[in-house]
Amino acid sequence: MRILYVEDEKLLADAVTHLLEKSGINVDWADNGEDGLRLAKKPVYDCIVLDIMLPKMSGLEILEIIRKQGIKTPVIMLSALSEVEDKVKGLEIGADDYLAKPFKTKELIARLNALTRRPALRETKTLKFEDLVLDLNNRTINGVALTEKEAEILEMLIKSGDKTVQKDYILAHVWGADMMAEDNYVEVYMSYLRKKLKSLKSKVEIKTVRGLGYKLMVK
Ligand code: CA
Repeated sequence: MRILYVEDEKLLADAVTHLLEKSGINVDWADNGEDGLRLAKKPVYDCIVLDIMLPKMSGLEILEIIRKQGIKTPVIMLSALSEVEDKVKGLEIGADDYLAKPFKTKELIARLNALTRRPALRETKTLKFEDLVLDLNNRTINGVALTEKEAEILEMLIKSGDKTVQKDYILAHVWGADMMAEDNYVEVYMSYLRKKLKSLKSKVEIKTVRGLGYKLMVK
């Protein structure tokens, strides 16, 4: 595997590159956005690992340009944990994955292996609503892991747009034939989801429509 690694922090880049090469991954390193962009256009990489904050040109700009030019090399964005908006933007403009800094190189290697096993043109199953990106393949919302049921509920809410989803409908579809499921399961899961949306600082909230059900709304 050969990757392009765009990162301006030399000490970090050296350490990560060393570990990647030890596990058999060939790394070309660029320490600024301009060189990163020039190299990213080469059709020789299995994956591009792209930091967001870079001198001369940001990782997001590079990503946007190469995707507009039809370059489909898988991209893993790197960003500080707090930069939720950058992550969302990155996924929206075509990043395949991202990793919050600081990260373990082991984790990066696992992501690289996962991404390069799939064909570059693989279809990503994502749904968007305002600043939320629900990834049904990896079962995450803006990168935060969801349980199976949480993902199913969010999928329903996003797909129904501004229409209210009835509580009974959710219960029947998510819990199905589980006769032990109680009405308040839905409420409990809504509170889990609300906490997750809040932790993401999303502008979207789950609104309770009294006596009917739930819908997504912008605050
Ligand atoms: Ca940086």
